[in-house]
Amino acid sequence: MKYIIKKPVIGITLFRKYEDNGRNCYNKIGCDYTNAIVSAGGIPVPVPVLKDKKEAEYYIELIDGLLLTGGEDINPSCYGEEPIKELKSFDINRDRWEIELFKKSYEQNLPVLGICRGMQLMNVALGGTLYQDIEKQYDKNKIHLSDRNVECIYHVIKIDSDSKLYNILCETDKYRVNSYHHQAIKKLSPQIRIAAESDGVIEAIESKNKKFIIGVQWHPEELVGNKTCFHYLFNNLVAEAEKKH
Ligand code: MN
Repeated sequence: MKYIIKKPVIGITLFRKYEDNGRNCYNKIGCDYTNAIVSAGGIPVPVPVLKDKKEAEYYIELIDGLLLTGGEDINPSCYGEEPIKELKSFDINRDRWEIELFKKSYEQNLPVLGICRGMQLMNVALGGTLYQDIEKQYDKNKIHLSDRNVECIYHVIKIDSDSKLYNILCETDKYRVNSYHHQAIKKLSPQIRIAAESDGVIEAIESKNKKFIIGVQWHPEELVGNKTCFHYLFNNLVAEAEKKH
């Protein structure tokens, strides 16, 4: 019972939100994510949070690539720490599900792009840790808490010219990007290297030994309209997925 799908299938993780005065829980995803995958020539397939981690195997068979989206804070128990009071909302079931999904994708050499929380999740899944709150735990002068103004171009990132990310974006080593995160990578997983930084904060990572495992701390899906180069990230994810497809 395998359908022939003509384009690469990209799984997109969803978040859950209670609405209607808490009566109903919905799976949600920003349209910018799905639009970016469609524009890159892929088929976006929503991957809801499921309780049974074994279900992740079926999704891995179904998809050719994975997009780990943004969202809530990752529960610090996932990296062996106690929560601090600055921790914001979290969904431990989503954390566990996505860590499983990512680990299986990693084992199977699927291409993965992680955005914001998605980048942090990759690091945690591979043994790294996070600052639960940049201002509290890293530097109180950091400017990383910005308002959630869509397309707000907030700070400059510096890309390592030896990185895959540099080759993908292929314009320059400095970009002005948006910045919505109040958390950041603290201890980097040994399987990962830094691809971009901003003022000491890690803004992009990539796998040391896998073909396409890339994480960015900013939100390229919201900037593709005014910066074409950010679209290359999605194009490359879909192109890698195509090889598997
Ligand atoms: Mn930032």
